[in-house]
Amino acid sequence: MIVIMKTDTPNLEIQRIIQELQSESITPEKIVGKHKVIIGLVGDTATLSPEHLQQISPFIEKVMRVDKPFKRASLEFRHGEPTEVSVPTPNGVVVFGQNHPIVTVAGPCSVENEEMIVETAQRVKAAGAQLLRGGAYKPRTSPYSFQGHGESALDLLAKAREVTGLGIVTEVMDSVDLPKVAEVADIIQIGARNMQNFSLLKQAGAINKPVLLKRGMAATIEDWLMSAEYILAAGNPNVILCERGIRTFDRKYTRNTLDLAAVPVLRSLTHLPIMVDPSHGTGKVEYVPTMAKAAIAAGADSLMIEVHPNPAKALSDGPQSLTPEGFDRLMEQMEIVGQTVGRWSKKFSLSTATSFSTTKALSKSSLAK
Ligand code: PEP
Ligand code: MN
Repeated sequence: MIVIMKTDTPNLEIQRIIQELQSESITPEKIVGKHKVIIGLVGDTATLSPEHLQQISPFIEKVMRVDKPFKRASLEFRHGEPTEVSVPTPNGVVVFGQNHPIVTVAGPCSVENEEMIVETAQRVKAAGAQLLRGGAYKPRTSPYSFQGHGESALDLLAKAREVTGLGIVTEVMDSVDLPKVAEVADIIQIGARNMQNFSLLKQAGAINKPVLLKRGMAATIEDWLMSAEYILAAGNPNVILCERGIRTFDRKYTRNTLDLAAVPVLRSLTHLPIMVDPSHGTGKVEYVPTMAKAAIAAGADSLMIEVHPNPAKALSDGPQSLTPEGFDRLMEQMEIVGQTVGRWSKKFSLSTATSFSTTKALSKSSLAK
């Protein structure tokens, strides 16, 4: 249930209402939006009547039930106002949100050595990426596959951050590693395979770092939002959702089925920022550019792209990784679509002249594919 306060309600009155509504089974939560203050009521609200609550104060504009199983993650809980996840990095604050330019996160699947991670970081930065991704702890289907270099890879990510100023996105697989990962990561990734690791979600909810929550490969949108709810309920409001493809009956030509319809569906259900990962979503480098552009057109707030200096030699996910040159070309194409939907940062824009010739070149080649 949410209680929408009238504009200019005195703070003391809000406090009074919160106190009055506080009970053993209900925790009122103050949500300060750009235009309005909302008091969210989570817990056993079944016996409360909106009409009765409305009488508590003349400053209450409206009381509404949230009839979805996810509450804090629901669009209603913020009265339709999108969440902005601000990520401070040495290069400045990167903001994920519906009213902001698209954020590109790029880098290798795994951190392999210092030279490759620093070189990749420099290349993706030059192409316009704002954050570097790279796994130190890798969730692999086979125990015999490369598992990631662990703690030493975290040091290499810290080095790449220092050299390039790019913020770091890296995965935590086990809550035991959370403090170490949080020390280096600017955004903590919870991978598809851990989307319903509820104890990890609760612990990620208790830290002061944004969390990137990837969709489980067999998760419904509601399962996914309920997982986000765990993090929000534990006190961390900074959650980004990442669509990375789901398992369907057809796995012959793509690794997963990238559910781009999830973007507008999520938009209608939640205020949280939405990222799309066409690399894991398709598993094949040749399909990544098309789906990256489609994700922008569908309204994604952010893209995650795997880039490796030598994909043929990659220790994980080489077949879906772009070369740095391929990533340069993709960013040029993404800029065109991003500008068309009014979501591209001018800071990284190509010059007008280049942009014009690129538009012409692309309309004849890759964009027409
Ligand atoms: C990854 O980002 O490298 C990864 C393992 O992703 P996912 O959890 O989506 O498979
Ligand atoms: Mn990967």
